[in-house]
Amino acid sequence: MAEYTNARGNEAAEDLHELSDGEEEEEDGDEEQWQWMEEESDSRSVTCLFCDRSLRSVSAALQHCSAEHRVDLADVIRKHSLDDYGYIKMINFIRSTKCSASCLTGLPDAPLPWESEDFLRPVLQDDLLLQTDPEELCASEGSCSSGTVSHDALLHRTEAAEEALARAMDDLNKIKLLTQDLILNAETGRSGGNLGAVAELREDEDEAYFSSYGHYGIHEKMLKDKVRTESYRDFMYRNPELFRDKVVLDVGCGTGILSMFAARAGAKQVIAVDQSSIIYQAMDIVRANQLEDKITLIKGRIEDIKLPVEKVDIIISEWMGYLLLFESMLDSVLYARDLYLADGGSVYPDLCNISLAAVGDAQKHQDHIAFWDDVYGFNMACMKKAVVPEAVVEVVNADSLISEPTVIQTIDCNSVCLSELEFTSDFCLKITNSTDCTAIVGYFDIFFDKGCGNKVMFSTGPQVTKTHWKQTVFLLERPVSVQAGEELKGKITVRKHKRDPRSLLVTFELRDRKLTYGLQ
Ligand code: SAH
Repeated sequence: MAEYTNARGNEAAEDLHELSDGEEEEEDGDEEQWQWMEEESDSRSVTCLFCDRSLRSVSAALQHCSAEHRVDLADVIRKHSLDDYGYIKMINFIRSTKCSASCLTGLPDAPLPWESEDFLRPVLQDDLLLQTDPEELCASEGSCSSGTVSHDALLHRTEAAEEALARAMDDLNKIKLLTQDLILNAETGRSGGNLGAVAELREDEDEAYFSSYGHYGIHEKMLKDKVRTESYRDFMYRNPELFRDKVVLDVGCGTGILSMFAARAGAKQVIAVDQSSIIYQAMDIVRANQLEDKITLIKGRIEDIKLPVEKVDIIISEWMGYLLLFESMLDSVLYARDLYLADGGSVYPDLCNISLAAVGDAQKHQDHIAFWDDVYGFNMACMKKAVVPEAVVEVVNADSLISEPTVIQTIDCNSVCLSELEFTSDFCLKITNSTDCTAIVGYFDIFFDKGCGNKVMFSTGPQVTKTHWKQTVFLLERPVSVQAGEELKGKITVRKHKRDPRSLLVTFELRDRKLTYGLQ
């Protein structure tokens, strides 16, 4: 289950949960599968290297070689420092030459008789010994040779255990330092201190972020969001002149859908990058659609990998999070732009707006806030203080809008710089109904504009078909009374959370109140 609440919400995980209902049936299915696997492994025996005996498992074969033929394979591997290839060649050499066990003892250090690449070819079909990792074989040597653990093996294990312990102590130390840092920061309100440990924590958070994208559910949700996916498709299919013979980079390719659109639109080469394990599915998907000649898939963070080309003509990416900037993935797109985009190249989508509108919805306000005054007869009003500062991601009914929308920020992905992704903006909401303003709603619009003969756009606002981004609602604990025709003026600040830069802090200054919301 995805631990990180990413910009597409946790419904993917919920979907998975739903799918796992009816546990009993599945358990039965699992059991059957296990039985099947056991049967299968039983039916695959291992032929001894030096005689015709068939053994039930690799470890039984090793034991047999040691007891009957006086050959300890782990010793041979270690003595000649065999890597995976050396080991495979040795097995095939023994099988093809049918050499006796004694020819393995007293071999010179070099050249070994199985040096030729010919010995990479398997002699037996489905030879389980070839599927065995020589390193593992050496590590388990103590238990599979004569039944007693050798002194060397014990030493090896002790060293490994000591190393693991040292690493664990190191981790504990980092956690200790980090906790001290966090407490200190909370007390003094300053940042900084033990940056190394903070950076490591960020790495862990990033791991959670990418693993949330490893689940298929979130990709299903994005692909099924037709407003989103068809906009990307229409932009590429309706503007083939932009793509013809171009090199395209897809930052965060997921299942590879945008890369495949680009390839179909005429791109010469598409490089698709994703750090999440979903890229392994993308590899199959690209092959299933015979696009492997056009699309090169690379697993890794765009910031960590090296592209096989120096420059690209176009960067495409679907990086948008709640209120556009949540998730901070645009940072990665800008990194790719600054490093790889050729002069005259373009990033798509290119223009993005963030908008606000006033909401008057007493019922929703009641559901979220007054609710805590009486919960099954208990007063939980203290919860309001915790609930209000959390922005709510939900679909807003267009009928509850009580102002015209206003754009508070426009971002041009071809020119914006990182520091501009945190900003303060004055806004003015033209009120259309005399009522109580219970919340402010935020959303974004996306434009494929630059150089397009056929421009494409989509909105995530309450007035149009809903998307998986829904809208972001900032509830006012105390509603503000407004009059039709009035201008409700305010100021909004959007900034990254210092300790979790993928989440946002949004501050409103409205009338004489200052309200800060988290979006996590
Ligand atoms: N392009 C796909 C997936 C979009 S979701 C689609 O439109 O359906 C965003 C994807 O970007 C996720 O799969 C995530 O793992 C990936 N991603 C986010 N930041 C990244 C980075 N810095 N480097 C590589 N991949 C990244």
